[in-house]
Amino acid sequence: MNLILMGPPGAGKGTQAQRLQKTYSIIQLSTGDMLRAEVASGSDLGKQFKEVMDSGGLVSDAMIIAMISSRIDQDDCKNGFILDGFPRTTPQAEALDQMLAEKELKIDHVIEMKVDDDAMVKRITGRFTCAGCGAGYHDEFQKPEKEGVCDQCEGGKFTRRDDDIEETVRSRLQIYHDQTAPILDYYKDKGVMETVDGMAVIDDVTEQMNAVLG
Ligand code: ADP
Ligand code: ADP
Ligand code: ZN
Repeated sequence: MNLILMGPPGAGKGTQAQRLQKTYSIIQLSTGDMLRAEVASGSDLGKQFKEVMDSGGLVSDAMIIAMISSRIDQDDCKNGFILDGFPRTTPQAEALDQMLAEKELKIDHVIEMKVDDDAMVKRITGRFTCAGCGAGYHDEFQKPEKEGVCDQCEGGKFTRRDDDIEETVRSRLQIYHDQTAPILDYYKDKGVMETVDGMAVIDDVTEQMNAVLG
C-alpha cells in the first residue's frame, strides 16, 4: 500500500506517519528528514539545502525528485511507503506519477489533513524530536510520559529544528497554499483523495486514517 499524507507544516503528517508505518508495515519517506540528514552530513549540498530551508523556501524540484526516485527503489519500500512532505509542487506530483508508472507502482490513497493555519504556529514552535530515535513530541500536546525521557527509546537527548520559528512558519504556510494545495485538485480528479480532520486530538486523527485505509 502506497500513501501520500498532505497538509501544511504542523498538520501532523510526521506524527501520523510514524504510527501508520507500524500498523501497516510500510515505510515513512519524509523528504524533510532526508534533507536534514544531508545538512547534518556537512556536505556542500547540505549547506545549500540549509540556506533554502532556513528561509522557509522550497528545494528545487529536480533535486527532490531524484532523491525520492532512488529511495523508492530500496528494498525496504517493497511493502509500500508513506510519502510525507512530497509532492509539494505540481511538477513534483507529475514526476511522481511518471516515476511510479515506470516502476509499475501506484498511489492507493492520498489523505489530506485539514487544519486551521492559526493553530499551526503553536504546533510548530512547540515541536521537538528525540535525537536518538526520531520520535516526535510537543511541549504541550504530546509530552513524553516521563519528562526528559523518550517514550520509545528511553533516550534523554532532544532536538528542535532551526526552521521551527514563527517567521519561517508564516512563509512555509504561504508556500503551502500557493504551491502545494493546488495538487489536492489534481488528486481529487483522480479519485484517490480522502480528507481527515487534522484539528482533532492525535489519537482521533489516527482513527480517522485507519477508517480510510480500512
Ligand atoms: P508535520 O509533519 O505535518 O509538519 P508534525 O507531525 O511534526 O507535523 O506535528 C507538528 C507538532 O504538532 C508536533 O510537535 C506534534 O507533536 C504536534 N501534533 C501533531 N498532531 C497533533 C494534533 N492532532 N493535535 C495537537 N498537536 C499535534
Ligand atoms: P514540515 O514537517 O514542517 O511540513 P518538512 O520537514 O516536510 O516540513 O520540510 C522542511 C523543509 O524542507 C521545507 O520547508 C523545504 O524547505 C524542504 N522540503 C521538504 N520537502 C520538500 C519538497 N518535497 N520539495 C521542496 N522542498 C522540500
Ligand atoms: Zn527516542
